[in-house]
Amino acid sequence: MKLPGILQFRILKEALKAVFCGPYTSGYPFKPHVPAERFRGRPEYYEKDCMGCSACAQVCPAGAITFKDEIKDGKAVRKFVLRYDICIFCGQCQANCPTEKGIKLTREFDMATTGKRKDLFTTVEKELMLCECCKEIIAPKDQIVWVAKRLGPLTFSNASLMLFYLKQLSLSSSQPMPSLKENQLYRADRVRVLCPKCRREAILKS
Ligand code: SF4
Ligand code: SF4
Repeated sequence: MKLPGILQFRILKEALKAVFCGPYTSGYPFKPHVPAERFRGRPEYYEKDCMGCSACAQVCPAGAITFKDEIKDGKAVRKFVLRYDICIFCGQCQANCPTEKGIKLTREFDMATTGKRKDLFTTVEKELMLCECCKEIIAPKDQIVWVAKRLGPLTFSNASLMLFYLKQLSLSSSQPMPSLKENQLYRADRVRVLCPKCRREAILKS
């Protein structure tokens, strides 16, 4: 008689274990499944902690995160769209978020739907700061505040940063400044929120 090999013993051991201790698999979908602590599931934006820098979109290897700058209800906003049907749950967006809290992977995995796959998405919008002269986009407002907080006193070495930050703290007038026309920048305009191009022009003309 041929004796069972070591492999057969192992299989037998696992089969007996399953008989007495129950199967390894969970009863999902009949019972809720609790994924492991470090499970990488659906990424989620946290609007309060996201500053709109777009690093997550730049590093996303699958191209699941896209963004567009647009004017909406008179406000310039950067709108991010994260498509779950494209996401590969790699976690690069979370790992590279400068605030470390703007986007995080949750443990949610059940995204099955009978709807269209392109409807599986989430969005987040961040308001943008514009140049007071040419109306070019400078950066998202939350990003300016984040940078100013990290720079500390060095914030006051840049007029745009300083003015915007003081406005946020209600230490400067929040009234809109009289509008400027391109090529009509004067010395006094250096103390305004300007894009690098207009600031250079204001400095050269003063
Ligand atoms: S702060 Fe984080 S979540 Fe927000 S845009 Fe930047 S990288 Fe993405
Ligand atoms: S988890 Fe990976 S694929 Fe999904 S959005 Fe983040 S970076 Fe892109």
